[in-house]
Amino acid sequence: MQTITNQSLIARDLDVIWHPCTQMKDHETLPLIPIQSAKGVYLHDFEGNSYIDAISSWWVNILGHSHPRINQRIKDQIDKLDHVLLAGFSHESAIELAEKLVEISPEGLEKVFFADNGSSGIEVALKMSFHYHKNRGKNKPLFVSLTNSYHGETMGALAVGDVELYKETYNEILIQSIQTSVPKDQSEAAALEAIVEAEKLFAEQHEHISAIIIEPLVQCAGLMHMYHPIFVTKLRELCDRYDIHLIADEVATGFGRTGTLFAIEQSGVSPDFMVLSKGLTGGYMALSTVLTTNEVYQAFYCDYLELKAFLHSHSYTGNPIACSAANATIDILRDEHIIEKNQEKIAYIKKQTERFKSLEKVKSVRQTGMICAIELSGYTFEDRVGIRVYQYALKHGVLLRPLGHVIYFMPPYTITLEEIDMMIEVAYLGIVSLE
Ligand SMILES: *Cc1c(COP(=O)(O)O)cnc(C)c1O
Repeated sequence: MQTITNQSLIARDLDVIWHPCTQMKDHETLPLIPIQSAKGVYLHDFEGNSYIDAISSWWVNILGHSHPRINQRIKDQIDKLDHVLLAGFSHESAIELAEKLVEISPEGLEKVFFADNGSSGIEVALKMSFHYHKNRGKNKPLFVSLTNSYHGETMGALAVGDVELYKETYNEILIQSIQTSVPKDQSEAAALEAIVEAEKLFAEQHEHISAIIIEPLVQCAGLMHMYHPIFVTKLRELCDRYDIHLIADEVATGFGRTGTLFAIEQSGVSPDFMVLSKGLTGGYMALSTVLTTNEVYQAFYCDYLELKAFLHSHSYTGNPIACSAANATIDILRDEHIIEKNQEKIAYIKKQTERFKSLEKVKSVRQTGMICAIELSGYTFEDRVGIRVYQYALKHGVLLRPLGHVIYFMPPYTITLEEIDMMIEVAYLGIVSLE
């Protein structure tokens, strides 16, 4: 039998796979990394190299790879039920998951709609919000989002996002959305300033606006931009005043990432819709859920012939294997007091990243819970410093995947203090090594 090497897999891969979010020509010089196995925070390739997964494999893997409890739940599920459609049918894992989500989510969210990835969850929330108003006799074709926001890459989700790099090419074919400014930094003053602008927009256009969609506290794909929780508290008041839904996109911030179970808890309010995905299944399976209120649910509840039902579906809606991974993930978060235990790691990361501030190339160091971002300055888009730090870190056993000139840490919560040290040290030396 031929041994499998990184090289042989790379050749086979490049023959047939078109990778996401990638200029494929980059792989002429930037090697792909085939991964053979993963355990805890480590990814292992085919030649004995290991990498600390400091970005949780695109922010999904919150409890480490190959977690014994999640593995076991999935195995048990597979032996019982692989999949069944969720229209007209149901199964234990979906019911259990919906019950759990209603229990742990902010007050007032009582109904759970399933979809199968973050973007499709966003599409559901947007359609449901528009449809709710329509069922109540109002036509409100506009959505508002924040500048610099990211909500996924299907057409509706892309339309309410505001990251030019992903969106600009498709502008002519997207639905209408309006942006209001995200608070410019983490201060309370910046939050209140942004609220003044949102209020003005709502006052002028509320009759046409179905919802405002936000990423509470951290705009992850938007270069880890962070803002003060009071912005969301005040936004909730505005939404109530103007009959506009508040959609919390907690796809990235949910499940403890910002230090609380959900980011919006820090604002002390509930949204009308909350979209969850990424960490929901511990990073195992594609699944998303949209939680909403009984009030929204009731606006669709009537005799079939009144034609008010929400006729939206995805083939793998509520897949039992994905639901079982999610149930295990929520159980682990609760039983092992993960979010309480994270507080020590959050403080440790804060302390250990202090020294970045004295580097000349560092413009700011910011942190919200288990997300810490180091923003560099003085580089242009063409410098591609992110790629250079990425390559440096890989050589030294850490997977960092900077967003442009922002290097960030978003590790699985199971990372140890020693592994945090290594992750931070490699990033530090990677930045120092830049010209
Ligand atoms: C990743 C992400 C999405 C999209 O989720 P996908 O599963 O990648 O479609 C939506 N919103 C936010 C905030 C995200 O980070």
